Amino acid sequence: MGFIRGKEVEVVKNAPLKDPIQYRILGYDVSLRRSDAQLIDVVSAAEYAEEQKAAGDRPIDQYILPSDEELRNIALKKGKIINVALVGNPNCGKTSLFNFASGAHEHVGNYSGVTVDAKEGTFQHKGYTFKIVDLPGTYSLSAYSPEELYVRKHLNEEQPDVVINVVDASNLERNLYLTCQLIDMDERMVIALNMYDELERQGNKFDYESLSRMLGIPMIPTVSRTGFGIEALFDRVIQVYEEADPILRHIHINYGDILEKGIKNINATLKKVADIPTSISKRYLSIKLLERDKEVETEIKNFPQAESILQERDRNTSQIEELLKQDCETAFTDARYGFIDGALRETFQRNKIREVTSTQLIDTFVTHKILGFPIFILFMWIMFEVTFRVGEYPMGWIEWLVGVIGDFMRNTMSDGPLKDLLVDGIIGGVGGVIVFLPNILILYAFISFMEDSGYMARAAFIMDKLMHKMGLHGKSFIPLVMGFGCNVPAIMASRTIESRNSRMITMLILPLMSCSARLPIYVLLSGAFFPKQAGSVLLMLYLAGIFLAIIMARVFKRFLFKEEDVPFVMELPPYRMPTGKSIMLHMWEKAKQYLHKMGGVILVASIIIWFLSYFPLHSPEEAEIDRQIAQVEQVGELSSEQQETLSLLEHHKATVHQKNSYIGMIGEALQPILSPLGFDWKMSVSLMTGMAAKEVVVSTLSVLYVGEADDEGSPQLDKMMKEDTYDDGTPVFTPLVALSFMLFVLIYFPCVATVSAIVHESGSWKWGLFVIGYTCLLAWAVSFVVFQAGSLFIALFL
Ligand code: GDP
Ligand code: MG
Repeated sequence: MGFIRGKEVEVVKNAPLKDPIQYRILGYDVSLRRSDAQLIDVVSAAEYAEEQKAAGDRPIDQYILPSDEELRNIALKKGKIINVALVGNPNCGKTSLFNFASGAHEHVGNYSGVTVDAKEGTFQHKGYTFKIVDLPGTYSLSAYSPEELYVRKHLNEEQPDVVINVVDASNLERNLYLTCQLIDMDERMVIALNMYDELERQGNKFDYESLSRMLGIPMIPTVSRTGFGIEALFDRVIQVYEEADPILRHIHINYGDILEKGIKNINATLKKVADIPTSISKRYLSIKLLERDKEVETEIKNFPQAESILQERDRNTSQIEELLKQDCETAFTDARYGFIDGALRETFQRNKIREVTSTQLIDTFVTHKILGFPIFILFMWIMFEVTFRVGEYPMGWIEWLVGVIGDFMRNTMSDGPLKDLLVDGIIGGVGGVIVFLPNILILYAFISFMEDSGYMARAAFIMDKLMHKMGLHGKSFIPLVMGFGCNVPAIMASRTIESRNSRMITMLILPLMSCSARLPIYVLLSGAFFPKQAGSVLLMLYLAGIFLAIIMARVFKRFLFKEEDVPFVMELPPYRMPTGKSIMLHMWEKAKQYLHKMGGVILVASIIIWFLSYFPLHSPEEAEIDRQIAQVEQVGELSSEQQETLSLLEHHKATVHQKNSYIGMIGEALQPILSPLGFDWKMSVSLMTGMAAKEVVVSTLSVLYVGEADDEGSPQLDKMMKEDTYDDGTPVFTPLVALSFMLFVLIYFPCVATVSAIVHESGSWKWGLFVIGYTCLLAWAVSFVVFQAGSLFIALFL
């Protein structure tokens, strides 16, 4: 129409109803609807002036018509944003590509379903700004799973300028299925032939250039893990965007006479409906209608002539089904695979010598029907053992550092509430938690390794049967394992489970997967009370969580979600050695999150807890003790006996003060409910504050205990807990109490963030309340049984 970059456009007039508008360009007049005109970027005179002002080389008040060259440059700059969407199967390397291109640090994992949301990144290349979106992986674009719908919606509504279809070159046949559907949708695209290194390693021969010409889509070999080919890929995207690509053309996949006739009939009917947006391909709509796609059907129902369209559809489908003796959707699927088969037969040559790959070799052991489980448990055990043992060293260093800082403040600041707040509240509270950072990092290193190497998918595979026994889907396993890291992303990852029932059960039992926030409590208590068997106690706790999860899943399945499930399909990607960089990235990400929490929730909670335990300042009881202290001190020179009385009195005073503080009152109030589990008021209080985030349990304990310390030396939380006694001299903590307490922490109230994730994902706050209710009751029941039965056992036999 003559709207070419760098040419001057003049608005001649608006039509009476403001649409269309008449323009003059290159000496002739055209009229355009507003909606269409919007697709053309024009720089106004004012914008041009603005530009000049910024450049500062011309007085703005006096507008001078710019030269063609100048206008051209501005127009170019405006039009240089390219919206790109990454579409491809799960596990084909989209996120790696996204990360490499945009410099982001998104989670890369060697199994399906890591990316559940679209992630957006921006970067510059050759003067263009790329806005690139990493979409969730899908095998097709039918409307079955949430991801499929998500991707389709994104393509239809956001209308990216160019789609990069990421294709796993080592698995062409399956990956090209999605490509076929994208061709149907008439997307402008470039294919990233990713994992090209694997294709070459397998010794297969692939003439991608001729396939590329056949499909009318440029193809670029890439290895997104190393970045090979990515620059060429984006060069090609620019060419496609500028419509300067020699290969680019839109082809129609030939579905065979019978299906094509159906498509043609419906297409003709659709054309009669004037108002279908031009951005959506009518051929695509026809195909989807024939496939009985629910989404498209709903959309069509919005049109006045929906009736006649659907009638025409029904007429054609029944005709097709009669002729082909199979249902329409299957017919389309078969036809697509036929198309792919034909295309590959001409261009792809499989390596004849089928070597036993290392993946197959490893799998003979790892997924072996007898060896599989012991290997899995061994892995888990190593994971926890290393988390505990190796973590001890850096933990000692951090502990030392926190102690040094605390001492420094203690010795340099003058006495008063501010000093108490800083030393006991903030350093005590936050310091008590920060020491566990190394443990959490190690745990995450293991989880990342298992995800990235492909072992996680095997674990899901061998667990499938067990999962079914629990009334779950094999796919539930991955969110459940992710739950060991943090329940919140795990709940989000459960989105990939197609069946709503399985998804709900998975979410409801996820809080029983012991997340890393609970680790500090375990490490503290099992280190203090089970020093020799700490690793095993840790494993036992995790197993207890899993065991309870199994039971609860069965209960939920039995009473809440009775329906049967769709069969389990899960692929086993080849093993890949994860890059050290990707593991470091995950660890760094987690460290960041943890430190963030430290500075946020935990800092605030520590201050509030300190405040509640510090005030009210004076009580009559304390005044009485103060008087006694004063009496002793009056004597002047103190005998050693008097010295001792004095320090006893001081300690007594501190205890009394805490009991009378606000937090003491709250603990006291909870006491009747929690004492049958063996907990004293300090534990009760820490459980309450731990609802915000479970790390806070430890920081509460450290604030409460450190508050009792005399001012010499850095206090050791575990030592002080071991030495703490009730008024009658019996110890507050015994191994049994510690166990009961750890179990309670494992099970009760998932943190606030987890509850809100459940509410969000289930779409109802009722499920959030339900989870809170059942976990608290279950925690109480388990701890009650363990403590009471344990006490009885000790009384009888020891
Ligand atoms: P996504 O599910 O499509 O987002 O895929 P990811 O980016 O999470 O990658 C899946 C796995 O494939 C990871 O283990 C990557 O390290 C690995 N990977 C990605 N690109 C390549 C590649 O080009 N070659 C090889 N050999 N591995 C790759
Ligand atoms: Mg991904």
